[in-house]
Amino acid sequence: MDLSAVAKTIEEGGVRTVKIGGADMDGVYRGKRVSSDQFLRQAEAGFAQCDVIFGWDIQDEVVGQLPYSNWEIGFGDILMRPDLSTFAVVPWEEGSASVICDFFTEHGEPLPIAPRHVLRRVVERCRAAGYRPCMAAELEVRFFREDQESLRAKGYGDLRPLNPGLNCYSIHHASIDEPVIGQVCQMMTEYGIPVEAYNREHGAGMYELNLRYTDALRAADQTMLYKSGSKEVAAQVGAVPSFMAKYADDVDGCGGHLHQSLWSEDGSRNVFWEDEAPHHLSELLRQYAAGILATVPELMLVYAPNVNSYKRYVERTWVPTNLTWGLDNRTTALRVIASSPEAVRIENRVPGADINPYLAFAASLAGGLHGIELGLEPPPFTTGNAYDLKDAPGLPRSLPEALARFEESVLAREYFGEEFVAQYAALRRWEVGKFRTAVTDWERRRYFEMV
Ligand code: ADP
Repeated sequence: MDLSAVAKTIEEGGVRTVKIGGADMDGVYRGKRVSSDQFLRQAEAGFAQCDVIFGWDIQDEVVGQLPYSNWEIGFGDILMRPDLSTFAVVPWEEGSASVICDFFTEHGEPLPIAPRHVLRRVVERCRAAGYRPCMAAELEVRFFREDQESLRAKGYGDLRPLNPGLNCYSIHHASIDEPVIGQVCQMMTEYGIPVEAYNREHGAGMYELNLRYTDALRAADQTMLYKSGSKEVAAQVGAVPSFMAKYADDVDGCGGHLHQSLWSEDGSRNVFWEDEAPHHLSELLRQYAAGILATVPELMLVYAPNVNSYKRYVERTWVPTNLTWGLDNRTTALRVIASSPEAVRIENRVPGADINPYLAFAASLAGGLHGIELGLEPPPFTTGNAYDLKDAPGLPRSLPEALARFEESVLAREYFGEEFVAQYAALRRWEVGKFRTAVTDWERRRYFEMV
């Protein structure tokens, strides 16, 4: 879409306000709202944005001593330039449209720490190798009948789920929830984010929505817009979704599985398929899988970026706990699906729903490309229950452990760039520090009366 096509859409759609912004380090869609007239006047030059959106944590607390965005340089402006191909009228908000922007320095260079830039860099490397990466994030999510005030009044505990009971795959329970979930799906589809399917998941108020796979960058854009948009739509019908990896001790976590395949340059053929090969799995798929598995430990920080992310890795809760792969096996880290020449793909089940989609896609793709570049050989398939394999290498089990692996990673620097690695590691170190002094409900319940 060029600017004149955007102007036409604005005119025809009665758009008065355009939301401009992009993903911060946590994948939160942040930016501003401008009038449509102002948008059209300034879209080519770009919009000023305070760089603090890369200088604070997920609760807007300024970190201060980060390599990029700090008190010493006075939190100056960066530039947001709209990617007009992402311009879309927002169907649930009368008179509004949104557009995703790329971030640039004041000198007009791409901002090296911006997650969308990091993913684009890895995608370009993949394209240079002759492949087109296609992806989809399959996020699990918990919906509650709450609002911003009630969440705070209850201290985020004792919340009322959208529905009680597990009721996984129950058609009638899903139908009862249709006024909320159906509305989210309908709005996303009208927004240009096709939802292929959705179902009740294994938890009170828990759902899984499958967004249709597409080119990697677009897929990450859609995932961010869906996470942000589902919060907006749900609020209009009296509900709140949460993409936390693990909401409570005794319930299943929310996965953020990444489906991925590589295609020929012209997009006509999925190169993970080979007619004659065992299970139709091409050598390329095998090397790609080997690369993801080999790099999970050093890139775990991106797959599991929060303190809470690590609480999800519990055996027999549909979450992988070791570095394994298998054919249609939901106990392994990678599930290979080889149902047809188009649908053959790898599902990376390590990430949770709390991922920054740009970074998680970049990590999985970087791992896969690394496997192809080095011609890595994967371990044998796990055919049974991967939780029973006591000798399989495990995953980093905490944020500090993952952080240490990431900081040592040569691969992360090579694929994501030095500046990004330094900034991201510093932000996660801050997160580790914040938790070190946090006193939890669990500690009060356990020690209050007894010590
Ligand atoms: P589940 O794990 O819930 O059974 P599925 O195995 O049905 O999920 O996977 C569905 C997801 O896989 C959808 O998001 C779909 O768009 C995506 N998908 C299908 N084919 C491909 C492909 N060739 N490349 C990447 N993703 C794909």
